[in-house]
Amino acid sequence: MNDEIKKYLVYEGRVSVAIARTTEMIEQYRKEQDLTPTTTAVMGRFLTMAGLMGHTDMKGEESSITLQMNGNGPIGNVVAVVKKENDTAIVKGYCENNKVELPLKSNGKIDVSGSIGRDGFLNVIYETGGKQGYKGVIPIVSGEIAEDFTNYFATSQQTPNVVALGVLVNKDGVVASGGYKIELMPDATNDDINKLEEAVKKAPSISTLIEQGKSLNEIVEIITGDENSMVLAKDLKIEYKCDCSKEKFFSGLKTLGKEELKKVIENQEEIETVCHFCGKKYKFSKAEIEKLL
Ligand SMILES: [Zn+2]
Repeated sequence: MNDEIKKYLVYEGRVSVAIARTTEMIEQYRKEQDLTPTTTAVMGRFLTMAGLMGHTDMKGEESSITLQMNGNGPIGNVVAVVKKENDTAIVKGYCENNKVELPLKSNGKIDVSGSIGRDGFLNVIYETGGKQGYKGVIPIVSGEIAEDFTNYFATSQQTPNVVALGVLVNKDGVVASGGYKIELMPDATNDDINKLEEAVKKAPSISTLIEQGKSLNEIVEIITGDENSMVLAKDLKIEYKCDCSKEKFFSGLKTLGKEELKKVIENQEEIETVCHFCGKKYKFSKAEIEKLL
């Protein structure tokens, strides 16, 4: 099934849900970045979260959200950025050590928190028109990512919520990837909360539901226990794409300053820059740099 994201209202509008299936996108990302199963599980969760937030926490086209987590674990710094074009949340991301591979935990699951670590912070930065807006910084609670974002929304936005993220990887690649974010509106009742908690607890994991081939409409019913969900927005999309270009790196070189650039081309024939996000290399010849000067 193709990647998609949908937004729903359940419990007669007192609870909202956003669900994403990102299997294709994460498999594409895994291949391009040549990730290990461990880093696929981490980046799959992180990019899915960014994609969800592109549709739940972002308004204008000129905005972006940057998610950054560093728990001093072997994977190092983990970053994802989401921007929006039309109805598509466009995500990119990287982790410092994308070749990290840890042994499976005793329950057979990938050790996500072991690779991220628990000694550090989750940062969420909102930007509009190149200007930084709200910035949320909270200590990492578990390093399992979904729990950390649940805690972020609860503390920074005072929104009771449930976040679930999951990636299933085997030796051939990504089998299933996705996530959801359930948000309680201010008029949600205690009865709603109890019913919701029970449904979430009973439901299989999001990666299992996606692996089973369940549609998003079926998943919303399973995780909320409400058969009368209303689709609020459909045909939303999530896509992985890096927006780097030679032009962008060229203007980046300008910020080095004339003197510094002169020094560099005195000693070498060309300058090579590498995009953090996608690993693409851009070369600038001596002649190009001289023109810039
Ligand atoms: Zn790039």
